[in-house]
Amino acid sequence: PAQYRGRQVVILGLARSGVAVAKLFHENGSVVAVNDKKERHLCPEADELEALGISVVCGSHPEGLVHEGVALVVKNPGIPYTIEPVRRAAELEIEVVTEVEVAYHICKAPMIAITGSNGKTTTTTWTGLMLEAGGLKPIVAGNIGRALTEAALEAEADNRMVVELSSFQLKGTRAFRPAVGALLNVYETHLDYHGTMDDYVVSKTKLFANHTEADTAVLNWDDPVCRQTASAIRSSVLPFSVREELSYGLFVQPPLAAGDEDTVHTIVYRDKDGQAHRIVPVRELGIPGSHNVENALAASAMAIASSVELETIAQVLKEFRGVEHRLEYVAQKGDVLFYNDSKATNPTATIKTIESFKQDIVLIAGGLDRGSDYMELLPVFQSRVKGLVAFGETKEKIDRVARLAGMSRIKTVDTAAKGARETVEEAVRQAQALAKPGDVVLLSPACASWDMFSSYEERGSMFKESVHNL
Ligand code: ADP
Repeated sequence: PAQYRGRQVVILGLARSGVAVAKLFHENGSVVAVNDKKERHLCPEADELEALGISVVCGSHPEGLVHEGVALVVKNPGIPYTIEPVRRAAELEIEVVTEVEVAYHICKAPMIAITGSNGKTTTTTWTGLMLEAGGLKPIVAGNIGRALTEAALEAEADNRMVVELSSFQLKGTRAFRPAVGALLNVYETHLDYHGTMDDYVVSKTKLFANHTEADTAVLNWDDPVCRQTASAIRSSVLPFSVREELSYGLFVQPPLAAGDEDTVHTIVYRDKDGQAHRIVPVRELGIPGSHNVENALAASAMAIASSVELETIAQVLKEFRGVEHRLEYVAQKGDVLFYNDSKATNPTATIKTIESFKQDIVLIAGGLDRGSDYMELLPVFQSRVKGLVAFGETKEKIDRVARLAGMSRIKTVDTAAKGARETVEEAVRQAQALAKPGDVVLLSPACASWDMFSSYEERGSMFKESVHNL
């Protein structure tokens, strides 16, 4: 920010990160203008900024906002690159960055950054706990909740900054160079924003763009895109795999394979000298599901790269009970178990969760329509899922896949006349009615929540309340 003292900085998008960045540049003597398309009454943060003398324009992107005198544009990650002020900045060759880039420049602590299509929050939380147990004073921030710049201002050299990043945030980085970066997996999601898979992959791999051999890249060796990345970067690669035993890195011994539930699998770290260290048996992990074994390996790899003792890592692997709204146990009603996986906002996440259960499943799914046809769900609809309650914008599409799969227990809940809460209550009642003794009722929507809810948290909380009220 010091570089921008006395110069004009435009901040696009209020929200938590916009406010934190605006204050930072203002305090450093920049001339700050903040702009948000939302109407003024939906921008409660504006008053606070204006009181400090920062100019705030809400309601539209005014013409002339970005002009030749502007030195930097800081853009909220959710704002597309196609809006007028961002295009104008590109024409004038003004740098457009996201908050992550700003935070990187002010952060005194080494950064450990986690990205991927799925598993980010779980892995970030788990990594934070391992570092905490190892006495490394982590500060956990980013996509996971806390504004990154705010957290970065607080960080001292002896802290570790553990940050969850989306591809949107990474797209707006330049010099960003985390000491440790992890790419968990790359699935075809978010294509409506990035346009093409290539663009999406490029933003994810920007995590390592400024890496040298002094930095560590934790990569999922079972994911073809992550594996390809290894040859394109200069980082020291620390791979992990649940599918094969590696000559270096973290893996499961024997590897996980379908139908071997009774085998004893162990998480192993093989160091640079080729020596294998057994960390913990997979069945002692605190949370179920093979996707969580992947997350466990990734978190352990980052803790190892930060020199946390293997015994400490093992302890945290056993104790962690997961994060709310992710494969979260809710209650047992009669002979039926209810689970909340509201955070599953794409089909891949839902499939992973379904595959974590041995029981038959009555699935509650549906939500915001992003243009997918949900045909990826067909195999699990033909095997593990025995009943479906579909709601939200995508209910017809998901219902169609269930019919194709030959499922007979299907209901759709009409939202038109009802509010979100009533819709969820109705869906829970319908699911209970469809469930047979021993079944699991699972909310794992495969869709984002914004068709009916303010967030996936709201969706999950309404689900839990409805279950408890049954
Ligand atoms: P993110 O922060 O990337 O959205 P979360 O840790 O919040 O990821 O998990 C969201 C959902 O994604 C989980 O409920 C689960 O269904 C699925 N999931 C979690 N980890 C993985 C993984 N490693 N691979 C695939 N799916 C996963």
